[in-house]
Amino acid sequence: MNKGIARRDFLQATVLTSLGLMLPTSCDFGSKDNESPTNDYPPLKTGMRGSHDGSYETAHALARQGVQFGNPTDSNEFYDLVVVGAGISGLTAAYEYRKKFGADSKILILDNHDDFGGHAKRNEFNQSSSTRLSWAGTMNLEYTSFSKSVLDFIAELGIDVNALHKKIEFKYGNDKPAIWFDEDSYGENILIPGFSMYGRNEDVLDQIDKFPLSEQGIKALKAFYVKDDNVLEGLPEKEIERVLYKTSYTDFLEQYCQLPKEVIEIFIKATDGYWGVQPHSLSVAEAVSAWLPGAHRMGDSATQVAGNEESEEVAMFPDGNATIARLLVCSLIPDICPEANAKTIAMAKLDYSKLDLSNSSTKIRLSSTVVKVKNEDNKVAVTYVRNGKTMRIRSKHSVLACYHSIIPHICPELPSDQKKAQQYQVKHPMLVTNVLVKNSKALDKLGISGAYCPGRMHAKVFMTKGVNTVGYQPDYDEDEAVPLMFWGMMEPPERDVHIHDQLRGARMMLLQKKFQDFEREVRTVLDGLLGPAGFDVTEDILAITVNRWPHGYSYGYLDLWDEKYNAGEAPHEIARQPIGNISIANCDAAASAYSQSAIEEAFRAVNELK
Ligand SMILES: Cc1cc2nc3c(=O)[nH]c(=O)nc-3n(C[C@H](O)[C@H](O)[C@H](O)COP(=O)(O)OP(=O)(O)OC[C@H]3O[C@@H](n4cnc5c(N)ncnc54)[C@H](O)[C@@H]3O)c2cc1C
Repeated sequence: MNKGIARRDFLQATVLTSLGLMLPTSCDFGSKDNESPTNDYPPLKTGMRGSHDGSYETAHALARQGVQFGNPTDSNEFYDLVVVGAGISGLTAAYEYRKKFGADSKILILDNHDDFGGHAKRNEFNQSSSTRLSWAGTMNLEYTSFSKSVLDFIAELGIDVNALHKKIEFKYGNDKPAIWFDEDSYGENILIPGFSMYGRNEDVLDQIDKFPLSEQGIKALKAFYVKDDNVLEGLPEKEIERVLYKTSYTDFLEQYCQLPKEVIEIFIKATDGYWGVQPHSLSVAEAVSAWLPGAHRMGDSATQVAGNEESEEVAMFPDGNATIARLLVCSLIPDICPEANAKTIAMAKLDYSKLDLSNSSTKIRLSSTVVKVKNEDNKVAVTYVRNGKTMRIRSKHSVLACYHSIIPHICPELPSDQKKAQQYQVKHPMLVTNVLVKNSKALDKLGISGAYCPGRMHAKVFMTKGVNTVGYQPDYDEDEAVPLMFWGMMEPPERDVHIHDQLRGARMMLLQKKFQDFEREVRTVLDGLLGPAGFDVTEDILAITVNRWPHGYSYGYLDLWDEKYNAGEAPHEIARQPIGNISIANCDAAASAYSQSAIEEAFRAVNELK
């Protein structure tokens, strides 16, 4: 466990070269300042990704220290549209703009990261005999709640959501679940296969005897699952409503289900990945709709709140919604991979050197942080910082498809109530750490596909196999490498503060952690969890990619923290108003952390442009 840690970035580069997988060297280079080296294929990068070093410093200097980026160098480029943010929303805005204003529109998309896609990025691994894919952020297409226009848009990209859904075998580790209590937090390592945080655990009730709890705690937890009395019985309707929507899930467990605090703590991380909020800050209705147990103790009231099976139907790609971003980029800049299509896109090698060529009508300029967007004589002046240089370009229109919290800093001309509304959008910091391991033998031996880890940094770890769509067909015999996903968020440093302060505190902690902290955490978990089944952390970990998202899920309103707004008065509705030739997209504009919202908001933002 304490033996030296191999440098995996080196390994990736070595294997890449030896497998002849370097990108083409005969690429056309764009204007000097904007070209990427041909061997720079970001999805293969391991180590610290997501909000990687170099991506956020300029924005933080602007927003936190008020640094001014004056005296920009004016470029002679002029565009019809400049998009800020190359996430799904920004890419969709470019795609829709061409439909509305003409296929030959000149478009520039700027993004502060070294890869496009925003949260929709992929992690690609070539350390084993064949490519392994996983997703860095967004993954589910919850297509049963898509509008017709989003379904049409997705179909236009060549995606058949129903066909994808039928092929998905992946279950987030819930097909063979487990709970794992770790030694650091609970005194000894205890693995309970079969136990799920989301069910009543009828088949493994006896196993609860092994939980590291007091005798009274064990008895109370068993009783919680076994009983099916209605704890809300006899309460007036208004009081039931208060319990469901204005009581936290943890208070419900304590006050209505008589669970002691030591037991409630086991549930604390169960919504980390799904919500980015812990159950002490979610209402009973919110937690139960996210499948936490409790509906069985509510009689008929459960029908109001319990999770809906149909809404859980998803379509997926092996690299998550990065596939949508990649298909959009291939449509906007066909030269990046002329042969790409929706049937084979998973394995298509995109040539990043083609992203920003001077002769292309659409360009994507990465590692470029926008610091100012200003209406000026029926045009827009956009200033951005790239490689330490401050550049200014002009366009007819601009769509801001970036996080809303940065907009007040880059667009000072907005009215103050709009800026205030944008700053209400405090995103949830999220964490997706992908670890390529030599094979799945240890998990298979333990009879698990994943485990919930109530005492660890990441709430859950699971194998990401079974999404064999859009051309990805890996061999999975017992000797083949498999990605494990560590999923969750940072525990907020304080619970008894406003939800926005919890999220800000967790964000600060996430940004302060170094790659080595995550690497140590991964090794500790895999050693304790899989070590007894023969997993050797010094030999069996092939690569680690940490995707940290300090600005992760968009903040949607929460029962315990937000009032009900009248139509048109909610912060996101005030925040997204256009000004002059500038309109505003991103899923923040819907206060909804979904790809379909990112797409819908792009439709609206382009529609608003005259
Ligand atoms: C871990 C995680 C899991 C998720 N899972 C799902 C899921 O399963 N299903 C689902 O539907 N949704 C999911 N989401 C929600 C996800 O946010 C949306 O699906 C969608 O990808 C958001 O797209 P967007 O374009 O609105 O924003 P983003 O993806 O955030 O893109 C905005 C881009 O703008 C860039 N930017 C910001 N400021 C500037 C600036 N000043 N200059 C230049 N660029 C800037 C950002 O860095 C970013 O690249 C998930 C999100 C996260 C973080």
